[in-house]
Amino acid sequence: MKHSVFIDNGNWYKGNLHIHTTLSDGKLTPAKRVQAYKDRGYSFIAMTDHNLFASYPEYCSDDFLVLPATERNTSRFPGSYEHIHVVGVSRPAVPEKVTRPQPLPFKEQGNETDWQNLLSDMKADDQIAVIAHPVWTRMSIDRLLTLSDYTGMEIYNTTCERTSYTGRSDYIVDACLREGKKFFIFASDDCHEGENEMFGGWICVKAPKLSHEDIIRQIGAGSFYASTGPQIYDFGMDDDKTVYINCSPCVSVNFITYEKLGYSVTGENLTSGSYRLDGSETFVRCECVDKYGKIAYTNPIFLK
Ligand SMILES: [Zn+2]
Ligand SMILES: [Zn+2]
Repeated sequence: MKHSVFIDNGNWYKGNLHIHTTLSDGKLTPAKRVQAYKDRGYSFIAMTDHNLFASYPEYCSDDFLVLPATERNTSRFPGSYEHIHVVGVSRPAVPEKVTRPQPLPFKEQGNETDWQNLLSDMKADDQIAVIAHPVWTRMSIDRLLTLSDYTGMEIYNTTCERTSYTGRSDYIVDACLREGKKFFIFASDDCHEGENEMFGGWICVKAPKLSHEDIIRQIGAGSFYASTGPQIYDFGMDDDKTVYINCSPCVSVNFITYEKLGYSVTGENLTSGSYRLDGSETFVRCECVDKYGKIAYTNPIFLK
């Protein structure tokens, strides 16, 4: 019997959870961001201005959601570039009367105790916390391993990739998963400028319907995947520990496991793949790469 990581009955909803607007250092107004993502066929976004929590009920409708959100950060360590940025998406729907951004208290925070305090704060605020662009913030793996209370990590960030080639963090993600950290994998735009920083990375959530509650619940349950291009239709495991995937046409389907090596299938127009685990793996996740080099990323299945 197959056990999919996605819920059985539901629809796919595409969204980007990391966006800046003119309320912080973004170049487009919230209204223009909303229109651009709507025009591109997205179902939901989160506008995550720096150290400012905002909710936008005026842009929510039956076919489009703006989730209440923020991006918070600590200052850099003295003499170092290393710091942390965290995207926080509110779990509870914020009451409709909150239509104006609520500034967050921001204090200088420059050591790893403060990193954890920031994540713990966001948990206390009932937010899904996603560690953003860990390569761009020059986070060391040792320090990342000390952290808890987060839901996810960005494996791809469009703006970091296009402005300083620091958007891909697959090795950091695997280094943390390998040490037993359990979290989900996100791709996002983090757009500050216009279209040149938009529509490059997103998540697709399988949910019963498009509502704040359903999207948040299914993100928390891992019923989603991240992508820069290809689609994933199903991913899961059989009773005999065979991992399977179905995707849009790709040139490689890669099963990533630790400690032992995983397994890759290459070819033209691959739309499925499977791999039988030997039982020693701590996790397995999959990356499907299309002919343009764009990648769809499953969440990990945790095996230990
Ligand atoms: Zn950031
Ligand atoms: Zn950002």
